Amino acid sequence: MPKTNVALFLPRARLQDLVDALHASGRRCVAPRVRDGAIVYDTLTNVSELPVGVHDAQAPGRYALEHSGSDRLFAWANGPQALKPLLFAPRESLWRVVRSDDGSLQFREVLPKVEPLAVIGVRACDLAALALQDQHFLHGPYRDPYYARRREQLFLVAVGCSHPAATCFCASTGDGPRPQHSYDVLLEELDQGYVGRGGSTHGHELLATLGLGSAGDEQLRLVQEESERATAMQIRKLPSRDLRAALFANLDHERWDDVAQRCLSCGNCTSVCPTCFCHSEQDAPALDGHQSEHLREWDSCFTRGHSYLHGFTVRPDTRSRYRQWLTHKLGSWHDQYGRSGCVGCGRCIAWCPVGIDLTEEAAAICGPGA
Ligand code: SF4
Ligand code: SF4
Repeated sequence: MPKTNVALFLPRARLQDLVDALHASGRRCVAPRVRDGAIVYDTLTNVSELPVGVHDAQAPGRYALEHSGSDRLFAWANGPQALKPLLFAPRESLWRVVRSDDGSLQFREVLPKVEPLAVIGVRACDLAALALQDQHFLHGPYRDPYYARRREQLFLVAVGCSHPAATCFCASTGDGPRPQHSYDVLLEELDQGYVGRGGSTHGHELLATLGLGSAGDEQLRLVQEESERATAMQIRKLPSRDLRAALFANLDHERWDDVAQRCLSCGNCTSVCPTCFCHSEQDAPALDGHQSEHLREWDSCFTRGHSYLHGFTVRPDTRSRYRQWLTHKLGSWHDQYGRSGCVGCGRCIAWCPVGIDLTEEAAAICGPGA
């Protein structure tokens, strides 16, 4: 195995070599690209397709791209998508049943056809969310074969954050802004290029093919400084206290009524959240009556149907749905997964059409903490 723990330097002019090496290893590359006024993951063939000099201005209920004039390719925080749609498909077929001529039913599992995939530009918050989704889909009592197939083929090129958005608070959840684990390659951007590190055998092997020199002391100092500055730039944080206990001690707090007056129950927050995994299942029978498909699609605790149980709806109003979301995300996730379900990406704040900010709601209900 190639040498580990050595920081290398990849000049920006050679970033295409990294992409070419990923292609040569048989992987499709997916990377941040500008589409429809947002930075989204899409297929990448050439580094010229990356968002050069683009910065994202985010605030509660607001996301806009600006041009900074810099040559940097990763001087933005995050777009509406995390890794979630690449692994946990928004809508997919789980199995199909076919009626034979003799009337018997044949059930067939429908596993996804997957290709080796390299994702470039993964942020620390999204790696933390990936670890949580792995816990849920792979390490629980029932391993999800659909998620597992995609996960096995994933190669991750993480990028450290130097320009967090005003909505980011990953420092207060302990998940960022510097990627700490679960990547194959880590790149930290400077004006002239990238300090690169391998994080897995495949990652080290890939870097070794590029024949890079070691990063210099000054380059290491600069990336450390940028990471510290990114931490200091974060203006939001979750209250530093036992949120699980505080939320469950305040189930009748008047703030739940207040937030219910503003919340549209649209579910945008759960769609963009990289850790939310609720889904519904339904059947789609063919009109000829000979076959039917069983589908899984993303659902949200904000929909009426999500809490429908045999004749009645457990959470009929927005107050109970918002309370369910926040108490689960910041409270009972600790019981299920040993940590909070929030990784501080801030997406639910920016993409909420009425700008509801969960850090503000948590502080109002639980107190600001230390
Ligand atoms: S709850 Fe909001 S800030 Fe936390 S991980 Fe989900 S989308 Fe990101
Ligand atoms: S908190 Fe915002 S994004 Fe979430 S359901 Fe309510 S209005 Fe929609």
